[in-house]
Amino acid sequence: MNRRVYLDYAATAPVLPEIQRALCSAYTTTLGNASTLYREGRLARQALEQAREDLAATLDCAPQELYFCSGGTEAAGTLIEGIARGAREKQGARRARTHVICAAFEHHAVLDSALSLRRSGFEVELLRPNRAGYITPEALEAALRPDTLLVTAMLAQNELGTVQDIAALAALAHRAGALLVSDCVQAFGKVLLSLAALDVDAACFSAHKLGGPCGVGAFYLKPGVPFRPRQLGGGQERGLRSGTQDVPGAQGFALAAELQLAELLAGEGERLALLRDGLLAELTRNSERVRPTVPLPPDNCASHLPGYLPLLVRGIESQTMVLRLDELGFAVSGGSACSSASLEPSHVLTSLGIAKDEADGALRVSLGRDTTTEDCARFGEALLSLL
Ligand code: PLP
Repeated sequence: MNRRVYLDYAATAPVLPEIQRALCSAYTTTLGNASTLYREGRLARQALEQAREDLAATLDCAPQELYFCSGGTEAAGTLIEGIARGAREKQGARRARTHVICAAFEHHAVLDSALSLRRSGFEVELLRPNRAGYITPEALEAALRPDTLLVTAMLAQNELGTVQDIAALAALAHRAGALLVSDCVQAFGKVLLSLAALDVDAACFSAHKLGGPCGVGAFYLKPGVPFRPRQLGGGQERGLRSGTQDVPGAQGFALAAELQLAELLAGEGERLALLRDGLLAELTRNSERVRPTVPLPPDNCASHLPGYLPLLVRGIESQTMVLRLDELGFAVSGGSACSSASLEPSHVLTSLGIAKDEADGALRVSLGRDTTTEDCARFGEALLSLL
């Protein structure tokens, strides 16, 4: 029997075998709570701080600017709420900037956190991307106002794979006196990323998107950015995120990031882009019902995640495709994994102006470390057999 083919790396990348081994070893050697004074605690603290240092090196930031937490969702909510509240307290309620700009196609973790600020008196404006899946500097410039406090713009879009020019957007936000938070959950490990070069004020990351354990994440906060912690308690993570740290999880996260970075530098991005382009060519050559959701630019690895292939398939519903492909041995999703149970077209496709009947046939194929040429050929055949 043919082996199953997993093509949903955007939802979760299977835990790398190296990380499985490292986690087993970490769970047997890390015995203490990293906040305690005796030897077991000191060893756990040492391991945690080493993981922070290693992770910071892959992100090009200082270790003390990184805070561990439970994943991308927590990181996004903590940053958006924390910065909004911190800024309001710092500026005083009467003089406070209260305008927030949120890219309309943000992941719900960011979108819903930003929208919830409306309940506290903030004015939240959704900024639409262009049809190609990018927030343009011109659009942001036109939306920025003297009272804009915060801009949220994700580095890589999780349903489309488009990689935004965050450095340009951050420069514009800063010129207007605003802060920029970037959700880097999808981009981290898939494109080269330097927080120093992006110059964002805050960013969020998640381990399970790059072959690390689920339930582990981190956020970056530039020193001096106003912030009010959301999760209170024992004062861990320098008071910004209370709660006993998952030391093996942090170690697994840092190691996964190092492995992915080494593979990117060795040409993994180019390999995935070639596979993806080959698959798309095969599909479009054999069926006029299949097309990419957004144009895939030729300089693929810089402006589009190399292994991501977002498709619109005419005349068949996403859910039907997902279930039929599942029966045929393939794991793909109809949109983002988090919202793929919904029958409504995703807010991402709607934000691009894609009509409901087109969006109904959305399919997200995402390749990763274990994907081979043969997998892509078999998948192409299977998808075409449904049409
Ligand atoms: N942000 C983006 C862009 C994502 O794709 C995801 C996960 O799907 C998240 C945030 C949430 O991350 P987590 O699953 O670690 O909570």
